[in-house]
Amino acid sequence: MEKSSISIFDENYKKITENIARAAEKSGRKPQDITLLAATKTVDVDVINHAILSGISYIGENRVQEFLSKYQDYEPVNKHFIGHLQTNKVKDIIDKVSLIHSVDSLRLAEEISRQAVKRGIAVDILLEINVGDEQSKSGFSYDDAIASAEKIAKLDGVKIKGLMAIPPICENSEQNRPYFAKMKKLFIDIDNKKIDNSSMDILSMGMSDDYAVAIEEGANMVRLGTALFGRRNYNV
Ligand SMILES: *Cc1c(COP(=O)(O)O)cnc(C)c1O
Repeated sequence: MEKSSISIFDENYKKITENIARAAEKSGRKPQDITLLAATKTVDVDVINHAILSGISYIGENRVQEFLSKYQDYEPVNKHFIGHLQTNKVKDIIDKVSLIHSVDSLRLAEEISRQAVKRGIAVDILLEINVGDEQSKSGFSYDDAIASAEKIAKLDGVKIKGLMAIPPICENSEQNRPYFAKMKKLFIDIDNKKIDNSSMDILSMGMSDDYAVAIEEGANMVRLGTALFGRRNYNV
C-alpha cells in the first residue's frame, strides 16, 4: 500500500469536508445535504478501500473495463457509473451499479431500458445535460431537456433521479457559476412538471476545481477525484 497516497487522501478529505460544509451553509443547507462522491478512476483499490473505511460512501468509476476489474474488491460502498457509456457496454454494468450519472442520449436510455426489462430490474439514472452547449460534449441539450425527460420517463426499467452536468472547462471556478445556476433552474423546472416515474432528487455537478461554487448554486452531489486523491495521469 502506498503510504503517500493514503496520507494525501487523509489530508485532502478533511479539508474538503470542511469546504463542503461551508458551501452548504452558504446556500442555506446542512453539510449532510451534500453527498460527496469519490471519482476513483486510476486510483488503486487499496486507496479506494482506505477512503471507504474513512467515511466515503459513494464512489464513481468512468470506464467500464476499469470498473469491472476493481469493483469486486471494494469494501461495501454505493457504486455509481459516471463516465461516457457505450450502448454495447450497458449489459456489463447494469446490475452492478446503483446509479448511472451519464445518460447522455435517448439511444443509451433505450438500451438501459431494454437490458433492465430483460433482467426484471429498474435502473436509476441521471440525465446528463450539455449545459455549455459544447460541440465536443455529449448530453441532452438544455433547451430540449424537459422533452427528453418526458420521453425517457416513459421507458420501462429506468427511473430518472435527477440531472448531471459537466460545465465547460474554465480558468476559474467563478466562470462556471452561471452554468451551475442554469442547471439548478432546470432541475426545479423539471421537478415542477411532476413527470410520472421520475423525481428530481439528485443534482450531480461540481468537480475538484469548482465544487464549492457548484454547491453554492444548488448541487447536492459533487464528484471529486483530484481534490481527494491528488493529481495523477488520467489519460482518459
Ligand atoms: C474524473 C471525473 C470527475 C472528477 O474529476 P476531478 O477534476 O479529478 O475532480 C468527475 N466527474 C467525471 C464524470 C469524471 O470523469
